[in-house]
Amino acid sequence: MEQERDHKKLGKQLDLFTFSDAVGKGLPLLTHKGATIKRELERFIIDEEIKRGYQHVLTPDIAKLDLYKKSGHYPHYKDSMYAPIQIDDEEFMLRPMTCPHHFELYLRKPHSYRELPIRMAELAGLYRYEQSGELMGLQRVRTFCLADAHIICKDEEQAIEEIGYALDLIEYVSNIFGLTMGKDYWYRLSLGNREDTEKYYDNPEAWNKGEDLMRELMQKRKGDFTEAKGEAAFYGPKIDVQMKNANGKEDSVFTVQYDFCMPDKFNLTYTAEDGSQKRAFVVHRSSIGAVERLMAFLIEHYAGAFPLWLSPTQIKILPIADAHKEYANEMHTMLKEAGIRAELDESNDALGKKIRNTKLEKVPYFLVIGDSEVANKKVKVEGRDSGEGEVMSPQDLLTKLQKEINTKK
Ligand SMILES: [Zn+2]
Repeated sequence: MEQERDHKKLGKQLDLFTFSDAVGKGLPLLTHKGATIKRELERFIIDEEIKRGYQHVLTPDIAKLDLYKKSGHYPHYKDSMYAPIQIDDEEFMLRPMTCPHHFELYLRKPHSYRELPIRMAELAGLYRYEQSGELMGLQRVRTFCLADAHIICKDEEQAIEEIGYALDLIEYVSNIFGLTMGKDYWYRLSLGNREDTEKYYDNPEAWNKGEDLMRELMQKRKGDFTEAKGEAAFYGPKIDVQMKNANGKEDSVFTVQYDFCMPDKFNLTYTAEDGSQKRAFVVHRSSIGAVERLMAFLIEHYAGAFPLWLSPTQIKILPIADAHKEYANEMHTMLKEAGIRAELDESNDALGKKIRNTKLEKVPYFLVIGDSEVANKKVKVEGRDSGEGEVMSPQDLLTKLQKEINTKK
């Protein structure tokens, strides 16, 4: 076990999140630092998805129990859902998934084939009952935010094409995080089981066609994949992106699913070119998965030393003595006003201690402000890993930081 990378240990050491018995098991409390990482991940994925033609929507965290009975989720996921909440004379559920909410949104008006595919995305708060023994830090929690989407497609071919685009997006974001296919993550084609008609929607023809098309797609793409029978969703086959945590435990982190079942249950149709009403196909996909779980993986992947764009504190300013505090303050204000998450260490600690604390917090950069910096109106910028500092003008520092943040390198 790689103790040094364990996200539970690092999360405490870097003060990113905690749990409280008074709030409840598996319900994470993110500090302002942890919340900063989550917010940056969310901004990043929303912007990237909008660029790729997704429409971001918002739907409620609870809905009537009948909605999940209609979708078929209720019998299949009953054990991982919370008990119904009685409101007036009706029963409501904390939502365990977003799909039926998005389908109801699609159904608000008729659609033409010209509008498809419609890529409906949401950063959705979800609630699932995980057994106490399964809970683990941010990796397994009872409430989380899923970067979810449902793509309404006109036929199987369009659905398969969209699955390809979703995998492109997953590979793009994985690359940003410095994750390598085959080493840090790998694909698993999760298949159904025709004999088990209780667990899987009973439509052997649709299963055969869907699985064949997905296997063909995976064979065309570069990179290996494994196959796992009996790991599909009840409504269709899926491609899971598998990763291992610091303890070697494998988990599905992202997923792309092909669905020929929900369109039947929700009567999702569109007007075809010939004017007839045709049944749609749906792709369910997560791009960065459950944000909390991704955070757990990234804390371990970076061993807590986040790249600049994700770092809760991006730069610390360390004045050596009182005489340097005014200029240090000036630099602090300049950086903050430019949107940089800068922190000023105004304590009376010796410089050595200030530097040690900065390195323990794994802050990417720090400025030491002394006589020469004040006299020359310059800054000396040092990195958490580099030895010698680099002297530059405040404007050059700003340009350097902004470039690194924007390129997410
Ligand atoms: Zn879904």
